[in-house]
Order: sequence, then structure tokens, then C-alpha cells
Amino acid sequence: MIVILKKDADTHELESLTSWLTGEGIKVMPTVGSHSTILGLVGDTSKIDINLISALDIVEDVKRVQEPYKAANRKFHPDDTVIEVGGTKIGGGNLTLIAGPCSVESKEQIIGIAEAVKKSGATILRGGAFKPRSSPYSFQGLHEDGIKLLLEAKKATGLPIITEIMDADQLPLFDDVDIIQVGARNMQNYTLLTVLGQIDKPVLIKRGMSATYEDLLMSAEYVMSQGNPRVILCERGIRTYETYTRNTLDIAAVPVLKTLSHLPVIIDPSHASGKAALVPPLAKAAVAAGADGVMVEVHNDPAHAKCDGPQSITPEAFDSLSKKLLNIKGSL
Ligand code: PEP
Ligand code: MN
Repeated sequence: MIVILKKDADTHELESLTSWLTGEGIKVMPTVGSHSTILGLVGDTSKIDINLISALDIVEDVKRVQEPYKAANRKFHPDDTVIEVGGTKIGGGNLTLIAGPCSVESKEQIIGIAEAVKKSGATILRGGAFKPRSSPYSFQGLHEDGIKLLLEAKKATGLPIITEIMDADQLPLFDDVDIIQVGARNMQNYTLLTVLGQIDKPVLIKRGMSATYEDLLMSAEYVMSQGNPRVILCERGIRTYETYTRNTLDIAAVPVLKTLSHLPVIIDPSHASGKAALVPPLAKAAVAAGADGVMVEVHNDPAHAKCDGPQSITPEAFDSLSKKLLNIKGSL
């Protein structure tokens, strides 16, 4: 349920409404927007008499929210959420360019790529330290050492860093990581999402391979319901019957998620396609469709990458792509 307040609502009346609702076991989430102030009510609102609230002097309107996601719902927060991290802003008209290798391999590799993508306009550096590989025999990442190398690259370039967590036990290693990534395979790991809801750090959640928009938004809701509002949604392709591409990029996810939710939406054209040649056109389509940014795998030597070489573009290709993406964003 949402309660839309009148402009200049009396603070005493607002306090008494809030304490009455809290006493009824309802969590009240206020949002001061550009047009109005909204109280989002979470919990069992079925016993709340809508007419009783509507009748209050300070109330403009009351609406029930049918969707199961509440905090992530645009009805709760009509303005775009803008997430500030490491000197960059995600959402609200900004174009976020996340670039870097699939996995951190060595100091030279990560610092070299970080310097190159920064020069080309990347705003955030990516790199996997804990890799969720389909085969237990594949390279699993450098783990703690990988995070240390990412932090060195952060220090060398000033770029904020994003890396994937696979288990809540790993959280102490993420203290200086700027954004925590939850991978497609962990999108419905509700224990992990609940823990990430209790920290003060942005969380990027990748859409599961067979997850609906509502499933993804409910995963965001798990984090937000615990008190962490800084969630970023990422479409990275879904499983379909097509086998030519690694996954099928669902471009409709951009306008749909941005209508249903106020959270920033990022597209990952690398995992969506599995092919470096397809990354630029898909990234351009994503920005044209209104995405808040892209996350692109960039490797200095794709042929010898320890992970996802075929879908990694070179720093030179990223340089040319980032200019085109900025142009597209500017023309919208
Ligand atoms: C990744 O970004 O490195 C990754 C493993 O992606 P996904 O979870 O989308 O497969
Ligand atoms: Mn990868």
C-alpha cells in the first residue's frame, strides 16, 4: 500500500500516522520525491482500513500495491534511484560503463586493463575473483589474492571496483570492494541476499538464466527489505532454444524493469552473447533502449584469457565502443 501525502503535511499528524501504522506491525518507508512525498507500507496491510487513512487531512491518496515487490516498485519511489559510489553515479540519466576482465589473472593483467579502460571512459572496473564456473575443472579464480589485485588496480587508477560474491562467508574479504555482484547462478540464493541486505554497500544482481522480471525484482526486494536500498539490476541474457549465442539478450528487460522499478538497469552484452563481435551492437542497443549502463568483459589478450576469452573485447574495441555509447546516450 502507498500513502501519497499532501504538500506541507503537518509533521505531528504524520508522526501519529506513522506510529499507529508501526504499532499495527507495518513498516513505513517514506520517500521524498520531486513531486510528492510517499509513504510505502510494507507488511500485512490487509487489516488496514484504507478509508480511515484516506480521511486524514494530510493524505492526498491511498493505493494498494498488488505486485509482491514493494520497496523495489516504482509506485513506492517514482523518481529513479541514483546510487553514488566511488565518485560515480549510477542511474538517473547517467551512463555507467563497467569494464574489465572476466577474471583477475595477474597484477600486470588487471592493472593494464584497468588503466586502458579508464582512459576510454570506464567508470567502474570489473574482475572476478570467485568464479562460478560450470565445470569444477575450470579455473575458479584467484579468490582472496584476486580481490587484493583488484584493490591494487583501484589504487592505481582510482576506479571503483565490482566483483562477485558466491557465499556469505566471503563477505569479510569484500570490505574495500565498492559494489558486490550477485551472479546469475546465485540470484535466488535468499540466504546470501538477506545478508547483503544488512550491509552498507551497493549490490548488483544479475538476472538468473530462467528468471522472470518478477523473480529478479523479488531478489532485489530481499536485499531492500533488510534495509539496503542500493540495488542495481543486470540483464545478462536468458536461456532460450537458440544455441548460436551463449544466451539470448532480452532487450525488453530494459524498458520493462525501468517501468516496474526505480532501480538502475545495466546490460551485460558479453555473457548475453558469448561472442566478442556481438558485444558492440548489443551494447549500443541496450543504451538506445534506455539502459543506465553496460558491463563489458575486456581482455588485453582474449585468445589466452583464463575465462570467457571468446566474448571478451580488446581495450581498443572498448575505446571505440565507449565513444559510440556516450553519443547514443547523449542523443536520447
Ligand atoms: C560474471 O559476470 O563474471 C558472471 C559470471 O556472470 P553471470 O553471473 O551473468 O553468468
Ligand atoms: Mn565471464
